[in-house]
Formats: sequence, structure tokens, C-alpha cells
Amino acid sequence: MNQLNIPDNTHFEPLVIKPSWRKIQRENITSLQELIQFLELSEHHQSLLYQHPDFILNVPKRLASKIAKDDPTDPLFLQFVPLKQELLTQVGFVAEPMHDAHFAKERKLLHKYQGRALIVSTGACAMHCRYCFRKNFNYDTSDKSFDKELELIASDRSLQEIILSGGDPLSLPDRVLQDLILNLSTIPHLKRIRFHSRFPMGIPERIDDTFLDVLKSTTKQIWFCIHANHPNEFDEDIWQALKKIQLLGIPVLNQSVLLKGVNDDTATLKRFSEILVDHGVIPYYLHQLDRVEGASHFEVEEEKGKELIQQLAGQLPGFGVPKYVREIPGEPSKTSLTSSPQG
Ligand SMILES: *Cc1c(COP(=O)(O)O)cnc(C)c1O
Ligand code: SF4
Repeated sequence: MNQLNIPDNTHFEPLVIKPSWRKIQRENITSLQELIQFLELSEHHQSLLYQHPDFILNVPKRLASKIAKDDPTDPLFLQFVPLKQELLTQVGFVAEPMHDAHFAKERKLLHKYQGRALIVSTGACAMHCRYCFRKNFNYDTSDKSFDKELELIASDRSLQEIILSGGDPLSLPDRVLQDLILNLSTIPHLKRIRFHSRFPMGIPERIDDTFLDVLKSTTKQIWFCIHANHPNEFDEDIWQALKKIQLLGIPVLNQSVLLKGVNDDTATLKRFSEILVDHGVIPYYLHQLDRVEGASHFEVEEEKGKELIQQLAGQLPGFGVPKYVREIPGEPSKTSLTSSPQG
């Protein structure tokens, strides 16, 4: 071949290889030593830390880089950094506040409310939130299949919606999610599939083309509920990732937990709701903290929560005010803590 036959406009775009979300996840900070260096913690502040043996420190670099240096009052520090306060015992704070084991119809299927059931799809998360009520949940990691759960869902015609929760369903590989979605899609009485995920807040790279293809692969209506608690958790990459989901006609909701020192003031909650609705994300729930052991230092009085919501209602559009709820085991729905008209 004559070299000159090659058209001279042939040039190669430099191939930008973005790191996969798995690789990013492997760079999460999990050692206290690394965290101390990263946050430049003074000796005094280092002495506040505690490496929980079962529920270890686990925070994506993206979130860690949003924490102010050497500041234990930072709202993200409080959410992700394990502190000796977790060793405090307090009456009423128990290992499994939701009695989830009692509601498990199959090992990984929780059916508490009419018309919808929740698949505990994995125990793994992109991050460890120190207030998490499922931190003591006995995740069964041995059996990876959802056959029994799917069988039960297919046989229960009262179910219209399946919630993929966890842990975080986005911890699962896309081929597992794809399988699950396709299987759910074949069940005629199901109308909706809902994701509950905190993954995009730590690793928005997770919302890649393959995952978007999974979302596109079903004709069931998908709803996507993220979990964030403070405006500082967001950045432009995260908004862009959420926009890709919204562009598929999938409503994106947010649920928060009311956390002392993090978001228990009107100004923060207002700013938070505003950035959500300005990006088309609906503030869905503000949860009263579930009373899991080791989290008592996060609890905010219900009376204060009610006042906060009342103040928000006077300053935001109706769709910008989350429903303030708590979960009471055995009740037919989450229990509203605000009187009407909020409901
Ligand atoms: C919270 C929850 C749901 C969802 O409740 P909604 O009010 O529909 O958001 C479903 N199943 C279980 C087990 C839950 O804990
Ligand atoms: S992402 Fe959700 S399930 Fe996982 S630790 Fe945080 S609150 Fe718990």
C-alpha cells in the first residue's frame, strides 16, 4: 500500500478514558490515618475518632474533599466520620429499630405497606452514613439470586410497585440490575419500579451509559429517589448525572434525615430545598431519625422538627416542602409528624 493513499485529514481524537465507578469506589477513604491526613485533623480532634469494628469508616473522596479542614462541626464530617459518641448508649436506641426481620416475607423482600414491597438488594453502599438505621441489618450476602423474591412478587397481585433498596442497589453490577429489571418487567401486575439510592452523592460516575441503558430497558415507570441531607453534598457532576436520569422521563425525588448539627435549622433546610427544586428534584420526605444504637447524638426533638417544617412552608412552594415523617413499626404507612394541610 502506498502511504500517500491515507487521507491526510486522518487524525485520532485523543481517547479520554474515564475511570470506572468501581475504580473510584476502591479509592474511598476507609482508614482513620488517611482521613486524619486528608482532613488535617489536629491532635485534639483526632481524639474524637473511633474506628467502628463492623461499620467502618467509608467515604468517597468526592465527599471527603467537600469537608472543611480540621472542622468537626462540618455537616459532612458529622455524617461520615465515626466518632466516639457512637459508643454512647441511650434508652430507646436499639440494634434494629425497624424490626425489619419481622416484615421479611422472603429473605430479601420487605412487605410492610399496601401495594409496594422493598427488595433489600445488597448490603453494600457507596459510603457509610453514621446515622444509618440499617447498619446492623443482617444482610445475607451468600445467596446472590433473587429467584425466591421474584417468585413471591409474581404471585402477589396486590403489588404494584417494587422498591430496590439496600444497602444501595447501585452497588450491584449493571448485569445483575439488568437481570432484575427484566424479570420485574415480565410481571404484568407491576406498574412501577423505584430506586432508593445514595450512590450519586458520592460517586455520580455510577450513572454511566450502561446504567442508563438499564433504566431504558423497561416499560414500567421508574421513579428514582436519592438520599441527601445537606446542600454541600451536591456539585455540578452530581446535578448532571441526575439530569441524565430526569431526561429519561424518570422523576427524581430526595429523602433526607433530620440530623442534629447537620440540617436542623431553617436556613439550611430552605437552601437545601431550593437547590433541589431548582434542579427539578422533589423534596419527598424529611425523616425523623430512626432510633438505632450509636446514633442518639443525631436526634432532633420532634417539636423542633415540626417548627422547622412550619417555617419552611411559609417560605417555599408547596412542592418544596418535604413531608416530615417517622417510621413506626406496624403502622400501615410512614407516620406524618405535621398536621394538615401538609398531611
Ligand atoms: C419506607 C418504605 C416504603 C416506601 O414508602 P413510601 O411511603 O411509599 O415512600 C416501602 N416499603 C418499606 C418496607 C419501607 O420501609
Ligand atoms: S447509603 Fe443508605 S443504607 Fe447505606 S449507609 Fe448510608 S443511609 Fe445507610
